[in-house]
Amino acid sequence: MTNDYKVLYRKYRPTTFDEIVGQKYSIAMLKNAVENNKISHAYIFTGPRGTGKTSTAKIFARTINCENPKNGVPCGTCSSCINNSNNADIIEIDAASNNGVDSIREIINNVKIAPTYSKYKIYIIDEVHELSDSAFNALLLTLEEPPSHIVFIFATTDIEKVPITILSRCQRYDFKKLTNEELKEHLKNIATKENIEITDEALEEIAYLADGGCRDALSILNQLCTSNEHIDLDTVLNNYGSVSMAQIKNIVNAYIENQYDEIKNIFDNIEKMSIDYKVFLKKLVDQFFQESIHFKMNGNNEMYLKIKDTIFEFNDIINKININVDPFLLIFLVLIKNMEVKEVQPTNKEKETILEDKSPIKEEKTIDQEEAKEQITEDVIPEKKEEKTTEVKEEKDLTNEYIEQLKKVRINNCFAKADKSILLKSKEKWQSIKENSSIDKEIESIIIDTNTVLASNEIHIITDIQESIVELFNTHLEEIEKQYKDIVGEEIHFIALTTEEWEEYKKDYVKKLKEKYVYHYLEEPLKPVVQDDKQEAKENLEEVISIFDKEKVEIK
Ligand SMILES: [Zn+2]
Repeated sequence: MTNDYKVLYRKYRPTTFDEIVGQKYSIAMLKNAVENNKISHAYIFTGPRGTGKTSTAKIFARTINCENPKNGVPCGTCSSCINNSNNADIIEIDAASNNGVDSIREIINNVKIAPTYSKYKIYIIDEVHELSDSAFNALLLTLEEPPSHIVFIFATTDIEKVPITILSRCQRYDFKKLTNEELKEHLKNIATKENIEITDEALEEIAYLADGGCRDALSILNQLCTSNEHIDLDTVLNNYGSVSMAQIKNIVNAYIENQYDEIKNIFDNIEKMSIDYKVFLKKLVDQFFQESIHFKMNGNNEMYLKIKDTIFEFNDIINKININVDPFLLIFLVLIKNMEVKEVQPTNKEKETILEDKSPIKEEKTIDQEEAKEQITEDVIPEKKEEKTTEVKEEKDLTNEYIEQLKKVRINNCFAKADKSILLKSKEKWQSIKENSSIDKEIESIIIDTNTVLASNEIHIITDIQESIVELFNTHLEEIEKQYKDIVGEEIHFIALTTEEWEEYKKDYVKKLKEKYVYHYLEEPLKPVVQDDKQEAKENLEEVISIFDKEKVEIK
């Protein structure tokens, strides 16, 4: 990046509290501290990047060093103010580039020396979370007994990484993301001063893309105005791979109205454009959120719940997007899936009513056995599918869903007959498989870092692996089981879980144990046919669906 990139940002860097964009609360409190002359020895400003932490730290430092600040504004005439441009009493350190203990030792040695022109010697340490442990320890010594003329102002984008021992000695100020209105207003003022021709819609889009960060907003404006005489919405969308809010609203409306064709059209077009799917997904979620509030306020609980579920599903696919092929396909699938749900399944509200009708007098604290069984059964039955769904969706969803159902059933069945002594033996056998030279190389790469955590005579549960490997493991179950049989001579079924999933199942197991829940043996779901020939597969698929539809999974 050239320096031009930062021109606007530098030029319009705030120099007084009133020029800081947003952060009304923090600024008011800091001004208050100056006016009442209640200065602490350490402050920490935390918040996302580009929200004004460092600018505020500099302004605050100048203000508390001024001899006659008026309404929280430095006087400009005292010795501290006059020497401000070359002020030896305000020392700025970027911890990201000075994270060693040596630079902190230097600070500590110098803190004893009194300030030159001002009341305080002020250390502004930016990105303080980057300091090393030993640097933090050295810093802590000074913070425990600071000389009266010392003030530390720490800024951080990652407060979680700052040790609690440091935090407990600081006054904390939380800097918030700027609202789109605040950013838009700020951009508009600057555009006017700089004679930049820009439309309101373009300003709004930049504000949206900047995601609450003033620096990012100005960088975008800066880049656009260097290569465009006139900036309109299309300029922004084209340069930043974005999609207009109007388009997003079309998708959401089509979803609400169950207009499948409309959504299909929009997604067909999207594929031809180079759109950043992250921005796309964020906009979509934001718009869905707005709609969910709208439906909630109007008492349309059914739509509210439907949209809420969709938002959660979008959240779930964010992880999958990182490892999967086409992000837009996943987004599309979530939309389509929930559009059908409404036609096929009872709404959550209806489900609740059904449950209430079945057990009008609920016993507290004990699980109703029948109800628990029903819930498990319900979980195990794959959802009914409509014919008009796309083939891709059917295939992918069926496989994923099958694995999810299989997971539940196998874990349930393994818990039902789990045995510690089998587990110990199975661990040995598993190890011998990994070390066996005749094992298939691909399978070896999948199972190499795994661990058996639960075992019965028929089922072994495998974990301690990354999510992507879990997926690979479970889509290669048959091959793994075959290899196991060939090498160990036992017919065992496997299923793999992420560590988080396993922790959840364990918790659930302990909970059920306390409630004297009995694990019933469950039938395994049928495996969907993955096709080579499309027509044949379609028929098979329909056959499988019709079986799922009629057949209930039995509890023995
Ligand atoms: Zn002054």
